[in-house]
Amino acid sequence: MAVPDYVPTPVDDIPTIRAELGAAFRAGTTKPIANRREQLLALAYLLKDNIDRFKEALASDLGRPALETDVLEVGGTLHEIKDAYDSVARWARPQRAPFALNYAAMRPTIRKEPKGVVLIIVPFNYPLLLTLEPLAGAIAAGCAAVVKPSELTPAFSALLADLVPQYLDPALYRVVNGAVPETTKLLEQPWDHILFTGSARVARIVLAAAARTLSPVTTELGGKSPVIVDASCDLRTTARRLVWGKTANAGQTCVAPDYVLVPRAFQDKLVQACIDVLKEFYPDGAAESDSYSRIVSPGHHARLSALLEKSGGTTAYGGGKRAEDKFIEPTIVTGVGLDDSLMSEELFGPVLPIIAVEDINEAIQIVNARDHPLALYVFTQDSRVKKQVLDGTQSGGAVVNDCLLQVTADGLPFGGIGPSGSGSHTGKYSFDMFTHTRSTLDNPSWLDLVMGGRFPPFTDKSTRM
Ligand code: NAD
Repeated sequence: MAVPDYVPTPVDDIPTIRAELGAAFRAGTTKPIANRREQLLALAYLLKDNIDRFKEALASDLGRPALETDVLEVGGTLHEIKDAYDSVARWARPQRAPFALNYAAMRPTIRKEPKGVVLIIVPFNYPLLLTLEPLAGAIAAGCAAVVKPSELTPAFSALLADLVPQYLDPALYRVVNGAVPETTKLLEQPWDHILFTGSARVARIVLAAAARTLSPVTTELGGKSPVIVDASCDLRTTARRLVWGKTANAGQTCVAPDYVLVPRAFQDKLVQACIDVLKEFYPDGAAESDSYSRIVSPGHHARLSALLEKSGGTTAYGGGKRAEDKFIEPTIVTGVGLDDSLMSEELFGPVLPIIAVEDINEAIQIVNARDHPLALYVFTQDSRVKKQVLDGTQSGGAVVNDCLLQVTADGLPFGGIGPSGSGSHTGKYSFDMFTHTRSTLDNPSWLDLVMGGRFPPFTDKSTRM
């Protein structure tokens, strides 16, 4: 079936969409657990019935191999929706406060209430996961929602806009398509929560707009996620997992290993092991491989090409570029200084700078001198080094001896710290993000027999209650 045309939502419709969702939310239909489960089931079918169409759309947008879409997005997204479907009744159950004698008779309770109408702004790199997973959280929480996918994935965004009204209640869940003007108009509206996933540059715009409407915001951003490789590591496993983390989705992953810090004496061994793995992954070269994605847009292709050209490092492997099909070869650059072009911004592409350090202490100092990253990876078999790195650094998440898996690991919150983001989501954490924990008391009249001293007029006796 053909992918529908990408049509931006008329800007003038946006305030009406917000108002309609507000009215529908106030009507209360999102609240019953049965309704939430019905919509979650519909969301699962939206994906299941159309997996091939989504893969086709993502192949068109990102040159992404269908099997990579399965591995990186489809399985995890379906799992998240199913988890929300299975767990929503338990997540939404009111919670009694811990026993406290003074207040026990008032039955202090935390009600898990939907925040209201929420906005989910999505980047280009994992559009399926980053749209449907938080949407599942919003539905489970009992919210109405607008999702705004990226204009850089027009095939995906058009397909989503076509499918959402066919599967979900259109009074409650809407897709707004478009770029800056449409998002700007969205951000002029008040929201009961905004989840923004994207770059720090746009996050500043979103946060400034949200300040005007006092809309609460969760930011899921990126940054330069470092990899520290210790000489004690299992070299072949390290190389395979590291190269996978860097080449998946052609490096366009928020938690992709951005740069490597490795003791100088171990550098050549690591680089050679990574080159061997690249030759195994792409025996006829990445350009010919049907297991390798493309860069999303000509603009990002030009950005990466310029960073590579300006670099003072040495290309140890790769370096191939082709503007026609937005191809950038997996590339390893050695001899990279901390002030190199490749260290100036989040790379978000298949380029791996290698920085030689004296020891783990120097690696930790370099990490700590920069913004707290979204992810940090350490490869070592030495438990003292694991502890030294985890205790000595800060990051959104951290993985020992692997990459990327923290995003989908059940039960772990996913989020950044400081400049890499604020708040977290996935699974129960997405439900929590869109849920207001409303504190309630129900005070019986008889309790004034013991609490009457709070009412004036005050006497010495009454204030000793
Ligand atoms: P982006 O910030 O350019 O765009 C994100 C969204 O913001 C898009 O929907 C876009 O239409 C909108 N937008 C762009 N410019 C805007 C403006 N001026 N005003 C209002 N809205 C605007 O991000 P991107 O390039 O699509 O994605 C890459 C970035 O996202 C990377 O930094 C990456 O690390 C980050 N990311 C983070 C996570 C995470 O979960 N932490 C996941 C994926 C990507």
